[in-house]
Amino acid sequence: MMIASEVAPFSKTGGLADVASALPRALGRAGHDVTVVTPRYRGLAAGQWLADVSATVAGTTFTASLFTEPLGPGARVLFVDCPPLFDRAGLYNAGGQDFDDNPLRFAFLTIAALEWAAAEASPVQVVHAHDWQAGLAGAYLSQHFARHPALARVPTVFTIHNLAYQGIADKSWLPRLGLGWDLFTVDGLEFWDRLSFLKAGVNFSDAVTTVSPTYAEEIQRPEYGAGFDGVMRRRAPALTGILNGIDTDVWNPASDPLLPAPFTAKAPAGKALAKRAVLEAFGLPVTDGMLARPLVGIVSRLVDQKGFDLVAQVADSLVEMGPAFVVLGSGDGRYEQLWRTLAARRPDTVGVHIGFDERLAHLVEGGADLFLMPSRYEPCGLNQMYSQRYGTVPVVRATGGLVDSVIPWDPATKKGTGFLFADYSGDAMLGALARALDVFGRPAEWKRLQQNGMKADFSWDRSARAYVKVYKGVIAARRTRRPKAPVART
Ligand code: ADP
Repeated sequence: MMIASEVAPFSKTGGLADVASALPRALGRAGHDVTVVTPRYRGLAAGQWLADVSATVAGTTFTASLFTEPLGPGARVLFVDCPPLFDRAGLYNAGGQDFDDNPLRFAFLTIAALEWAAAEASPVQVVHAHDWQAGLAGAYLSQHFARHPALARVPTVFTIHNLAYQGIADKSWLPRLGLGWDLFTVDGLEFWDRLSFLKAGVNFSDAVTTVSPTYAEEIQRPEYGAGFDGVMRRRAPALTGILNGIDTDVWNPASDPLLPAPFTAKAPAGKALAKRAVLEAFGLPVTDGMLARPLVGIVSRLVDQKGFDLVAQVADSLVEMGPAFVVLGSGDGRYEQLWRTLAARRPDTVGVHIGFDERLAHLVEGGADLFLMPSRYEPCGLNQMYSQRYGTVPVVRATGGLVDSVIPWDPATKKGTGFLFADYSGDAMLGALARALDVFGRPAEWKRLQQNGMKADFSWDRSARAYVKVYKGVIAARRTRRPKAPVART
């Protein structure tokens, strides 16, 4: 059983939603049986009624109806329908203001999931909790279900999708959420005299995963730890990084309906048509010169995390160095303005679209020659993987999932799929881009580089196998361990 606060396509604010949908489906394809428990937010009508569950949290008894909806063979969503908690204008906030009762809302989601599991005839084997919203799962299992015949020995796996969201609440919530003060310790869920759901997830789970092996290393260091590096170091023996997969049906150049024509590594002619289309869509001149000129694509949230301060540092050199640019994104006003200014100054070189546009995102991936992703940090990242499938060579900063999914090009062995730079500086970024452009000038080498990327396996099936290994590990460890003395129900 998974617990996740977002599941695509039903609810989504970020990558968590994609993982919470694609991973269960991949596990189901591999013969497992997965239920993902998630809120039935406003406007969701999907699902067949299955059961009701009740629980008292913070002095109020809430009753929820559970609705089940298939996700694919072996995988289903279980919606928790509790209008007082989930029928709201937003998932976590409205008008930019987080809901005051978020601790209660997501504690209830977790309790409802566990109560449902406790009542099931065939018990779940593993609870897989995602991000801070499901962070209390392990604590509730050990405090409230320690005497349950089936759940007492069920291990918890906790996945961190973004360490920046820590689920911090005033400590007065602790008793209201039915948790004992004995858990309020440095090794428990106390974080600077407050309660952190994320810390609870890290400390009360049998295994902790995050979305790439390199990010798993990085978050143990102060530069990337967002205050949690000590916590992560302490749990290092239980921590694994598993790279996310991508949806290889939606992001497939051989069948992408958003491209002017399909293409593959063996039949790449359609890529030139995509380049023509993307130049046109971004208002750049469509001439033979432009079609031959290297084209750099960017599709991104325009925020600090994605490295746009580096672009700002060297903007003049960047637009003078030779290639043209197509930039799709939105975010911080100053980065939107930076790109608008560059486009106004060099309309023959820079095309910008500020906004979120699925079709243009596919066109950029299909039509660009290179893809630039200079992230300051990147738990996993998706666009560098999409790019490779579309024969668009990534130029990325060597951080997080980018390290784990882009192999540096080696002209001697003809291996590799892209270009990386380590220093977080504008000059290092320009250096990597210059190396890429050098290879672009040698068509045979460039073709090989593109083909290497197009052949890479970024499927969810590969990631799902890695998760199964973690599940099997925690199940085996529980079997060999004597159960802890039961803790009194509070
Ligand atoms: P993050 O989740 O940190 O934003 P990822 O690379 O993991 O970064 O995922 C970003 C996703 O959002 C990708 O699927 C990307 O194509 C998409 N995306 C980002 N900005 C835009 C945009 N302006 N228009 C369309 N898609 C976008």
